[in-house]
Parts: sequence; C-alpha cells; structure tokens
Amino acid sequence: MKTPEERGRVVRPGGVIGILGGGQLGRMMALAGRHMGYRFLTLDPQPDSPCGQVCDDQITAAYHDVDAAEALARRCDVITYEFENVDVAVTQVLERTAWVPQGSRLLWTTRHRVREKRAVEAAGAKVAAYRPVRTRDDLERAIADIHLPAILKTSTGGYDGKGQWRVDTVADVDAVWAEAVRVAKASGSADSVADPDADAPLILERVVDFVCELSVIVARSVRGEVRAFPPAENIHRHHILHMSVVPARVPAAVQQRAQALAMQIAESLDAVGLLAVEMFYGRDGELYVNELAPRPHNSGHYTLDACETSQFEQHIRAICNLPLGGVRLWSPVVMVNILGEHLDAVVARAADLPPMVKVHIYGKAEARPGRKMGHLNVLAPSVSEAIHLVDGLGIWEPVE
Ligand code: AMP
Repeated sequence: MKTPEERGRVVRPGGVIGILGGGQLGRMMALAGRHMGYRFLTLDPQPDSPCGQVCDDQITAAYHDVDAAEALARRCDVITYEFENVDVAVTQVLERTAWVPQGSRLLWTTRHRVREKRAVEAAGAKVAAYRPVRTRDDLERAIADIHLPAILKTSTGGYDGKGQWRVDTVADVDAVWAEAVRVAKASGSADSVADPDADAPLILERVVDFVCELSVIVARSVRGEVRAFPPAENIHRHHILHMSVVPARVPAAVQQRAQALAMQIAESLDAVGLLAVEMFYGRDGELYVNELAPRPHNSGHYTLDACETSQFEQHIRAICNLPLGGVRLWSPVVMVNILGEHLDAVVARAADLPPMVKVHIYGKAEARPGRKMGHLNVLAPSVSEAIHLVDGLGIWEPVE
C-alpha cells in the first residue's frame, strides 16, 4: 500500500523516466512519453536497443547488474520496467533508493505460476484447476485429482509455449515427465527471492475448453485510479500471438465482465502501472484467468491507433500519477504481429498498403523467424472487414 505522501507524488513533464529493459515495449513507452515532454533513459545489455534508439541515453549492462541499475536510478525521477525478466532483486534494491511506483512485489508474484494463480484466486477470480508438482508422485496425484487432458508447465521462465507439455493420456506421462524435469532443472528458479509456499518447479493445469482467448489491459495509477481497455480477442499461432481482434467477438456482457475482473485483480494486487490479464472464455460461460503480465502487452498494441489513449501513454500517466486517459475505442481494429519471416514482405508492400493499415516497426537489427519485429493495426468499419483485408495481403496464412 502506498503512503498518503506517495499517493500525492507526481512526476511532471520534463522529468526523467528510467526503463529497465530496452525492447519494443520500452520503445513504445518512450515514444508515448516523449510526446508528453518526458526524457528517457534505458538499461539493456544490447547496444542500440529498440528502446535505446528513441531514448536520450542508454546504459548498456546486464539486467542483474545492480551497480548499473543504481547508476540509472541516480539520473532518473522515476523507474519502470518493460518486461518481467528484469531481476526482482535489482528492483528491490532500487525500491529502497529510488522511486519505483510499481514496486517489486507484483513482479515477484507474476514470475511464478503457482504464486500468480494463488493471487488471482485471492482476488476472487477463477483459474483452471491446477496442482503444484514437485515429484513424479505429485504428478500422479495431480492427474487423479484434475483428470486429463491437462498441461504440465514449468512454474518459471516459460514463454511463447516453451516449457509446457500437453498430457492427453497416461501413455504420455513418462515422456512428458522426463522432458519437463530436464527443462525445469535447466531453467532453474530465476528468483533470488525464495518462497517456500510456492517453490514447486512445475504445475499441472486442467485444459480449459474455451470459446476464445481474451485479454484486458488495465491501468492503475499511483493515486489509485483504475481503468480497463476494451478486451482483445487473441488468436495464437505456434504459441505466439498472431492477431488481436477488437471488439472481441463475444457478447457485450462478457466483455464487461472481463473488464470488471481485470480491474478487481489490479486493485486486489495493489498494482500500479499496467497489468495485462489473459483469460479463457470457457464454453461453460465462465472466465478463467490464465496469466498476468505487469507491463504493456502485445495484445494491447491496438490501442496505439484505435483508442482515445494508448496503453503506453496510459502507463506513463499511471506511474507519473497524472489522471488516466479515456479508454474509448474509436474504430474496430485488428492487430497482426510482424514476425521475422513476415518483415521483408511487409516492407516490400509498404508503398501500396491502404491508408487504414498502420505500420509499426521496432528497429531490431536481426529478423529471426518467430521474432517480433513489428505489427500492423488495421482499422476498418468492422473486424471482419479488417481480417479480410489482412488475408488479402497474402503475407499471413488466412485466419478464416
Ligand atoms: P501460457 O504460456 O500459459 O500463456 O499458454 C500458452 C497458450 O497455451 C495459451 O494461450 C493457450 O492457448 C494454451 N493454454 C495454456 N494453458 C491452457 C489451459 N489450461 N487450457 C487450455 N489451453 C491452455
């Protein structure tokens, strides 16, 4: 909880914002904040990082380098982070000497799937049935409890479908267990802050039978104001986000429930800044929260061109303690990710893309397959027309 003095702390335009991490999320944060008159400094191991390119300066150092992080903090009025793999211990050190309105607690909570699910449940939201798994016996008991099909996931370090294995029948268990133990050992616990209640390296989750996947980006400011953007319907390919469709093609009442749920979670977790809440809209009509991310999120990129306020501007407003911006959607929109394999085709077509296609490129030096290089926001009178337009470009496999 913030003290009354902290709740009144405002970082005014002209102030310097330090970003731990130099990827595209930091880049878009800095671009939004520059419009508002802020200066930016980033810390990233990669020189000329996507964020560094648009900042006043970059400190090139490892994420766990405490001295470098302290040097960054000495030059800044407020510190934020752009991805959750920044070292929790570094954030804890900075919290004592600098202004880190987001704190380190939520970062720590969301870094571990068991901790995260407990926090979501404590906020009064549903999650898929799960069991922490430490041993092979635990796994057998977990299967007996929650039934198959299920998904075994590493508790930390998984992303884009890495570190998870589907278990459809008991015949899968031996192979999955061997592989999961190997990967969990190799990734280890990324935390320097142990938690005896939630130290299981693996977690078994029931497979949710869902209609679609939704996400809501919610912002909460230092003074406690909360606003949620319209939910995005997310379509994944090869475990990487392919497309976000807004408005989501679910009943309005479900959209409102999703927004209310995200706000409830942000308040319960005492979040400051942005929180992305990913959920499944189950065939049983329930919303099951899958994952939280305490930062701007790929599924919120549509806000850059289709909303009254972008998620990035909203994040700056939240941490600087300005009033939050409006979250109205101006137009139906579809966001499509440009991965390494799509970049050349998008650039080649740049001169003949229709005007309602907004191109965002992140300035990464190397275009590897599967790497997020940019995105398109396609505005149209309806989401089906936007999807049709994307299909017509012939760059991505059609969605429908
Ligand atoms: P995650 O890494 O937890 O975000 O999972 C990646 C993707 O796997 C999700 O976006 C879903 O498509 C799928 N998935 C993960 N967990 C479940 C679950 N419990 N039930 C159904 N699908 C899931």
